Amino acid sequence: MSSRCETCGGWSFGGHKCDPLFTYNIPEMMDDEWRETRALSHVDAAENACEENDRGSGEYSIMRYEGINVVRVRDAEGVEKRFSIVAEPVPTYYATEIIDSADDPTAEEVEG
Ligand SMILES: [Zn+2]
Repeated sequence: MSSRCETCGGWSFGGHKCDPLFTYNIPEMMDDEWRETRALSHVDAAENACEENDRGSGEYSIMRYEGINVVRVRDAEGVEKRFSIVAEPVPTYYATEIIDSADDPTAEEVEG
């Protein structure tokens, strides 16, 4: 049985343990504001920061400008690391099965 963890929002399957808490700041976009995210490392937290910022703003400006110069990330002990980010949109493909019908011109060719 699985449910959402009330602390981190992740799916919990029995022995769930929350990822460590980090805080991040993107100086170009957030002034002095620091927000929280959960991740396994500083670098994961930096990537989360950009994803959350893009999704939160709805503008996807980090993705559209293919990155951002500086993301500051601090762990629970206050150790700060700084990252530059490169971003790219990921193409998504959707397939719809073509059902053979009398007026489908490709029906004969794909016959095995
Ligand atoms: Zn959790």
